[in-house]
Amino acid sequence: MIRDQIKQLSVGLPPGTRLIAVSKTHTADKIMEAYEAGQRDFGENKVQELVAKYEALPKDIRWHMIGHLQSNKVKYIAPFVHLIHGVDSVKLLQEIDKQGQKIGRKIPCLLQFHIAQEESKFGFSKEEVNALLSSTKLADLRHIQLCGVMGMATFTEKSVQIRREFQELASIFKALKQDHFSSVESFQEISMGMSDDYPIAVEEGSTIIRVGSKIFGERL
Ligand SMILES: *Cc1c(COP(=O)(O)O)cnc(C)c1O
Repeated sequence: MIRDQIKQLSVGLPPGTRLIAVSKTHTADKIMEAYEAGQRDFGENKVQELVAKYEALPKDIRWHMIGHLQSNKVKYIAPFVHLIHGVDSVKLLQEIDKQGQKIGRKIPCLLQFHIAQEESKFGFSKEEVNALLSSTKLADLRHIQLCGVMGMATFTEKSVQIRREFQELASIFKALKQDHFSSVESFQEISMGMSDDYPIAVEEGSTIIRVGSKIFGERL
């Protein structure tokens, strides 16, 4: 089952788009089933669970932190995390930079944008990021490698709205790339799309989809 889902999802993706298997709450056995089907990128949203799975599972897995990250927990994942998707404040950026400096690593991050209508979803607004970019704050963070943007659409059946929100994120990415990161090669990712909305996200230019329940079934 897991194997078939991984294969089916992977063959359906355009060449520029990667699949992250979101394994939060699922057992190591299930992760190994996906691993044996060739999957190497996995996403988790809790630091403790991420660290435990990193320690227990094969070392060629690329671990993505996709959830809200608290500053005081950055140190536990800094040495090994492949990409932090949910960077949503200057304070968090500064803490990631500090931990990167301690261990001599440039830590790959995405800026999370608030594109949904719901209040509850985390993320920067365009204005906040523009303010950050017009200061020297970002340039001072030498142990951050900015790789692009991330966002979550509103939880709704209305595909027109979901599409509009993904278009918004893609246009934010394009403007940032053009105006601030044209010479930064690593700045190339748009992380958007989950089990229920990834086909729309892919059509709107997603480079990373984060799919959980469609692969592993319902969460525990
Ligand atoms: C849980 C989660 C996903 C995966 O959700 P599914 O609907 O199970 O595919 C993707 N992104 C984030 C940020 C998540 O927390």
